[in-house]
Amino acid sequence: MNQYDVAVIGSGPGGYVAAIRCAQLGMKTAIIEKYDTLGGTCLNVGCIPSKALLDSSHHYEDAIKHFAEHGIDIPGEVKVNLKQMIARKQDVVEQNTKGIEFLMGKNKIDVHHGLGSFKDATHINIEKDGKTETIEAKNIIIATGSKPSTLPFIQLDKERIITSTEALKLKEVPKHLIVIGGGVIGLELGQVYKRLGSEVTVVEYMDRIIPTMDAALSKELMKVLKKQKMSFNLSHKVKAVERKGKEVIVKADDKKGEEVVLTGDYCLVCVGRRPYTDGLNLEAAGVKLDDRGRVAVNDHLQTNVSNIYAIGDVIKGAMLAHKAEEEGVLVAELLAGQKPHINYDLIPGVVYTWPEVAAVGKTEEQLKEEGVDYKVGQFPMRALGRSRASMDLDGFVKILADKKTDEVLGVHMVGARCADLIAEAVTAMEFRASAEDIARMSHAHPTYAEAVKEAALDATDKRSIHS
Ligand code: FAD
Ligand code: NAD
Repeated sequence: MNQYDVAVIGSGPGGYVAAIRCAQLGMKTAIIEKYDTLGGTCLNVGCIPSKALLDSSHHYEDAIKHFAEHGIDIPGEVKVNLKQMIARKQDVVEQNTKGIEFLMGKNKIDVHHGLGSFKDATHINIEKDGKTETIEAKNIIIATGSKPSTLPFIQLDKERIITSTEALKLKEVPKHLIVIGGGVIGLELGQVYKRLGSEVTVVEYMDRIIPTMDAALSKELMKVLKKQKMSFNLSHKVKAVERKGKEVIVKADDKKGEEVVLTGDYCLVCVGRRPYTDGLNLEAAGVKLDDRGRVAVNDHLQTNVSNIYAIGDVIKGAMLAHKAEEEGVLVAELLAGQKPHINYDLIPGVVYTWPEVAAVGKTEEQLKEEGVDYKVGQFPMRALGRSRASMDLDGFVKILADKKTDEVLGVHMVGARCADLIAEAVTAMEFRASAEDIARMSHAHPTYAEAVKEAALDATDKRSIHS
């Protein structure tokens, strides 16, 4: 029987990063993955393919809407070749999953393909094609991720009533895509198909889209997406989704309790994801779940069984790849006797629509609720030379700082390349910078990053230069 210092179940960004860090720290490491490719949700049906389609559809939109203004004339009609778009996306996925295979080899990590299930607290059965292999590990890291959740009355047929997984490989551009859930997936994939020519209607239960982010971001993003002709039905409670041939009918009650009926040809259900522990046989090891079906862990990400840890989407906290990665590193370093730390308050959140949305730290709503005395600095993207050059005028950067100490407490932004700009805010906040610190740092000109400096200037005595 193969014996290991550590066995990791699941090869998503949590699992594969944990495995690499364990191997770097000298532990004999195995990783178990039930699918044939490594990389989990993120690389196969999540972060990477969705960004590939966002990029392709963005190019198309630029070509049909903006090239002429830039002085680029395209003779003849510009057409979408969805088959090629999806094939390129799949190529990108393969390059990435093969990259993980390479990294496993480079770090001498044993890869076992098959469904991992606990035999007891130190043994895992790995089942593939009717055969079972058992391995032994001193420590085990559960990194089995999440799956799309749905509503109890929805029958996902995976053809026309679909989740993100199917939306990443459609064979035709929907005529009318009804999106249930105005969160990250709904807006990113909604925008992909809007750009490709679909009519897109978002039905959201709450009174704003991306409801967990700062309300100013919800408002600005919705304004921009409406300009791009996406439709929104906020404060709508979906009560039925039916398929009739090629039609999908969605029924919801609006704020006044009146029934709204929407008819489309595809319905994307994206109302969140659920932790995935099916088939793990956690009972055999005695590992407990919390009241929301997540693997329960303490501050060291240790389960109630001392040699078994859990990380990523399968435990509490944001369901984000970079959060899972940090947790993978943390557990590996704990096992090596180090004293690692994660600052959960500073995990950035990003929506990869265009304009992009990014945030870190406290929202204005949270500061109000916590009774913190704060000040706001804001700067519009349209006042930047860089934004005018690229015609990306929408959005702003908003900095929330402590009124007395000037410490930056939250940074929220909408605009071009905000997904990258937010790293500056994370760095500043990790070092507990004041708005004045950011205001006094030189930012290259012309860049979108100048909006961060200007917002910091605005937060400190309203001394922004360019607005
Ligand atoms: P996962 O990536 O879900 O990996 C878990 C792995 O465990 C899977 O490969 C699964 O097959 C395997 N597994 C499960 N059970 C077993 C078992 N019993 N035996 C063996 N293997 C098993 N996050 C971001 O930060 N940025 C983004 O841009 C982003 N975009 C996304 C877009 C979409 C459409 C979706 C769906 C998600 C997106 N996410 C994004 C979220 C991100 O994908 C997850 O947060 C991340 O993948 C979680 O990593 P993980 O390692 O915890 O789990
Ligand atoms: P989400 O939590 O972002 O959004 C779900 C939305 O559905 C919310 O706005 C919620 O209010 C709404 N909703 C819930 N029940 C509803 C109902 N009955 N009717 C109408 N609306 C309803 O979840 P998601 O978009 O499904 O994404 C799942 C996870 O994947 C997220 O936690 C996210 O962190 C992760 N993800 C991240 C990225 C990224 O980082 N860019 C991209 C995609 C997915």
